[in-house]
Amino acid sequence: MTADVLVPTSADEAASLYGDGAGITVVGGGTILLPEMAVGRARPGRALMLHRAGLGTVDAVEGRVVIGAMVPISALADAPDGVLAEVARHVADAEIRRSATVGGNIAAAPAADAQRGDLGAPLIALGARIRSTGAGGERIEPIEEFLAGDRAGRLVLDVQYDRFERRSGTAALRRRHAHSFSIAAVVACARADGSDLRIGVSGVGPTAVRCRTVEESRDAADVLSDVDPIDDAVASAAYRRAVLPKLVRDALDQLEPA
Ligand SMILES: Cc1cc2nc3c(=O)[nH]c(=O)nc-3n(C[C@H](O)[C@H](O)[C@H](O)COP(=O)(O)OP(=O)(O)OC[C@H]3O[C@@H](n4cnc5c(N)ncnc54)[C@H](O)[C@@H]3O)c2cc1C
Repeated sequence: MTADVLVPTSADEAASLYGDGAGITVVGGGTILLPEMAVGRARPGRALMLHRAGLGTVDAVEGRVVIGAMVPISALADAPDGVLAEVARHVADAEIRRSATVGGNIAAAPAADAQRGDLGAPLIALGARIRSTGAGGERIEPIEEFLAGDRAGRLVLDVQYDRFERRSGTAALRRRHAHSFSIAAVVACARADGSDLRIGVSGVGPTAVRCRTVEESRDAADVLSDVDPIDDAVASAAYRRAVLPKLVRDALDQLEPA
């Protein structure tokens, strides 16, 4: 069967063609989708290609950063906030990062063998919001709510966060091979005076998670009340449970003034 290929030339046209998402497969950079199609696990009936939809820019104006869904992860190496650039530089390898998009990283469904969505942790820590459209129209919501909800049926348009002076800390465990996914990653951000602490964890379960218990207690051991690590091909749940509190401690320590 040949797919209908839809190529919108604006975000509004993309939203209109997407409608409630029924029967539509969104194509970002294709780093997940194209291999799935090649082995017959994905068979789009109607493919919505976003590469001409005007969603490929990063805008930093008046204290707010807006990153279009089609921005390649490689472009985030120059992101206005160092913590996002730092995590982006470690997603997959240079070849994948040039094609992989921010929207695809946020929207992709969980995988069985490895945990995707590395950008979730820094975006949670930065207090990012996702602008998406689908049934019921456009909405903007905190990324942790978007990730915890039913993402099927939502077209991600952009991700936005406010810029102000922050302290940040990151800690991650990965295998050395460039193609390997994270075992666990933690990003913490706070205002310069230490208030408004936000902590995101990715790589340990189906989606990135905000660690509200640790934000409240500032006790790294509490991370296991916030996340429930799983087994996959990259690491065991037991190993993740053992290392995660140490990673959180490491990220929190980096927030302390030198
Ligand atoms: C070898 C390899 C290594 C990888 N390593 C990592 C890693 O270290 N960390 C990591 O996080 N990921 C990794 N990935 C997964 C993937 O490359 C990234 O998550 C990437 O950001 C996905 O984006 P994409 O644009 O390629 O998605 P696509 O393949 O285009 O799409 C993926 C899914 O998201 C949907 N989608 C895409 N864009 C949107 C949108 N705007 N709105 C709604 N739905 C959308 C598609 O319909 C599809 O279901 C790796 C992949 C490979 C092949």
